[in-house]
Amino acid sequence: MVKSIVVVGGGSAGWITANLLNAHCRRAGRQTQITLVESPDIPTIGVGEATVPSIRRTLSDIGLPEQELLISAEATFKTLIRYKNWNLGDSYDHPFDRRRRPLTDGAVRRWTAQNNLPFDRSFSALSQLADNHISPKSPRQPQYQGAFPYAYHLDAIKLANRLASFGRERGIQHKLCKVTDVKVSPEGLISAVHTDQGEALTADLYVDCTGFRAALLGGGLGVKMKSFAKHLLCNRAVTMRIPYEVYKPERIVTYTQAIARDHGWQWDINLQTRRGIGYVYSSDFLSEDAAETALRQNEGPHSDGLEARHIRFTSGKRLVSWKGNCVAVGLADGFLEPLESSGLYLVEFAGRAIATMLDDFATAPQATARYYNRIVDELYDEILGFLNLHYVTSKRRDTPFWQAVTADDAILDDLRDRLELWKRRSPTEFDFPGADRLFAQDSYEFILHGMKYVDGPVSGAPAVPDMSALISKSRSELPDHEAILALVQRAAAARA
Ligand code: FAD
Repeated sequence: MVKSIVVVGGGSAGWITANLLNAHCRRAGRQTQITLVESPDIPTIGVGEATVPSIRRTLSDIGLPEQELLISAEATFKTLIRYKNWNLGDSYDHPFDRRRRPLTDGAVRRWTAQNNLPFDRSFSALSQLADNHISPKSPRQPQYQGAFPYAYHLDAIKLANRLASFGRERGIQHKLCKVTDVKVSPEGLISAVHTDQGEALTADLYVDCTGFRAALLGGGLGVKMKSFAKHLLCNRAVTMRIPYEVYKPERIVTYTQAIARDHGWQWDINLQTRRGIGYVYSSDFLSEDAAETALRQNEGPHSDGLEARHIRFTSGKRLVSWKGNCVAVGLADGFLEPLESSGLYLVEFAGRAIATMLDDFATAPQATARYYNRIVDELYDEILGFLNLHYVTSKRRDTPFWQAVTADDAILDDLRDRLELWKRRSPTEFDFPGADRLFAQDSYEFILHGMKYVDGPVSGAPAVPDMSALISKSRSELPDHEAILALVQRAAAARA
């Protein structure tokens, strides 16, 4: 039995993983001691504000009430990503819902060609509901459930803080100190981690959540990175927080904006009391100063006095995520890029998988590590392919960046054949083998049709699904997004 786990790192990855493991062990009636060690001097990355719907299951598994999340992490509801200018002048959505196909996939193809209507608005209700600022859930619905699939925009630092106090209340031991040395046995296993307070911590399993430093798996065990930079060119971000006292948008919207820019793209995320914005770009084409200037120009003069933060990242992953008695989760394991908000999803997936495999690890450690590495590799490949799709289907060639990201050698081999097929037809379920994928047929269709990539044959179009009944029902039954946030804030004020 795994009796003790040391998690090193107190960012979103550390606290989500520690809480998932703790909740799993408590449910199973196990006495596994979980200790989280976090350096008070090394700040967390502080970004990671957009999530995908799986976060609801994760937080529900952890046991954090939804109201607690909304209050403590200043969360707002997210129902889609709105893409702008990925083809110059175009805008389309990648919503979390997808209306059942009216007939067959062939029908979708014919519909697309004949009607020339926006795919997102015809096959999802969420675009129109987002335009009208409708919340995806009403306060009457049980926690973490809504009328439509939804995720959150949230303050990542505040989420980690809330999960820290939640975890401590449930028995996670929390140590504020820095791991300064990782002792490795001749067999290649971690035998202890030493801290700057002179302690040597030992455990059956070590979870490396030290962010890009990867102090255990990278530093201690020497596991190297593989790069995705050939297919994902962005490697920098400049970010800024815009408090509503400085500038308040007309409405707090339920979508992440992903606006293509000359040398990358910019996110725009609405929380309860501020916006978070960030320009993601490639250092091959833009300097840090020029990126910050562009971000400020895009935002306007009210950004003049606000602090900008520069973040460097590399798109890549450790060659193995689990080696011996150490598994890396979050940025310590890898990162693709912020598009499509997959960072926290990777953490959620890892935390749940490790919790499920604890018994396997106790009895068959090598097979467990090999199998875990395989499924995590597959997940990274899946996300890599989907992110690559966003760039390589663009018709933009207006700057050296857009020429480079759309060049033939930037296309993933795995995607190349399917892209040729998708020129003539919409994706089908057979294009996405494997169960329980994060991004499968529905997501690909929203991007490919949004980018006007598919040019299908015209014949015998079926009726376009009629969204109007669903939209008017939802408009009458669901509250305004800001009205539901006001309820949350009233509850928070009453508690204070
Ligand atoms: P960090 O937040 O860096 O935490 C590392 C922790 O390790 C810290 O607590 C630090 O103190 C500790 N530590 C480091 N070294 C030691 C040591 N030697 N001893 C003790 N403690 C140590 N994800 C999303 O899901 N949605 C998004 O919209 C999104 N946007 C992103 C935008 C950018 C530009 C980037 C770079 C990432 C984004 N991500 C996003 C990813 C997301 O931010 C991360 O997946 C998530 O925050 C997890 O980070 P982490 O906990 O692994 O690392």
